Amino acid sequence: MNVAMGMVTRSRSRGLVAASQGGGEEPAPPRSREVAAEGRKSHRSLKHQRKTERLHVAYEASSGEKGEGAEPLKVPIWAPQDWQQQLANIRTMRSKKDAPVDQLGAEHCYDPSAPPKVQRYQVLLSLMLSSQTKDQVTAGAMQRLLIRGLTVDSILQTDDSTLGKLIYPVGFWKSKVKFIKQTSAILQQHYDGDIPASVAELVALPGVGPKMAHLAMAVAWGTVSGIAVDTHVHRITNRLRWTKRATKTPEETRTALEEWLPRELWGEINGLLVGFGQQTCLPVHPRCQACLNQALCPAAQGL
Ligand code: SF4
Repeated sequence: MNVAMGMVTRSRSRGLVAASQGGGEEPAPPRSREVAAEGRKSHRSLKHQRKTERLHVAYEASSGEKGEGAEPLKVPIWAPQDWQQQLANIRTMRSKKDAPVDQLGAEHCYDPSAPPKVQRYQVLLSLMLSSQTKDQVTAGAMQRLLIRGLTVDSILQTDDSTLGKLIYPVGFWKSKVKFIKQTSAILQQHYDGDIPASVAELVALPGVGPKMAHLAMAVAWGTVSGIAVDTHVHRITNRLRWTKRATKTPEETRTALEEWLPRELWGEINGLLVGFGQQTCLPVHPRCQACLNQALCPAAQGL
């Protein structure tokens, strides 16, 4: 049996919330190593140190100043120079939506005919499989699992050896077998086979990290809870100096980006930059000559 997998772009996803809200079987949604070296580079050490601009935004008067006509304290918000043009250029370069992530990303690997609750579990599982794994490999593993009928119960009834063979060769497959079993047992016992609807609860599950949690919130629940930062987003935003200082970890990058990037763009960034990183801003030997941002990128000439 060939199980069709969902093919919905992340930006269109509204989340698989119907079942939990008593609605119909909405066939909604899913989608969405380098870097350590770049992460360790100080922005300051690069030849083309960027100038930054300061934006003045709305502010509030302190309690002691309210109503007294005093000049309120202005709080400047840092934002990288040229980020809007750089973002527009990346959107242009990504307009064909033909990167591996656009068709095979973890958020596309689910059975659209399954109940929403089951779809959400499948989304979470594909995200767990996707870490340190190419999209093509994750999609293959998910296809093998879906053919057998992928639910919390089916996974718990599958022995570890069989599960390992089904998901191999995803990265760290042995550990993932253990995490998938543990997480599935928790979901069965505490969430009636569904997945939790908060980042805090999701990251408490074995094998689920912040990037997976934010993507699961966006894809499965239709809620943008934060910027999902993987190695592509981490690498590219450091190259473009979208963080005020060089960051060393994806979590550090997420915090730095969320300080200035308008919230309405948070849900778009992961899919946009992952595909850009797969096709143009490669981990090694990025294709700067073909990049519309070459003249605006402080890292272009250093690579
Ligand atoms: S110019 Fe090169 S390093 Fe800079 S964003 Fe483009 S591909 Fe990446």
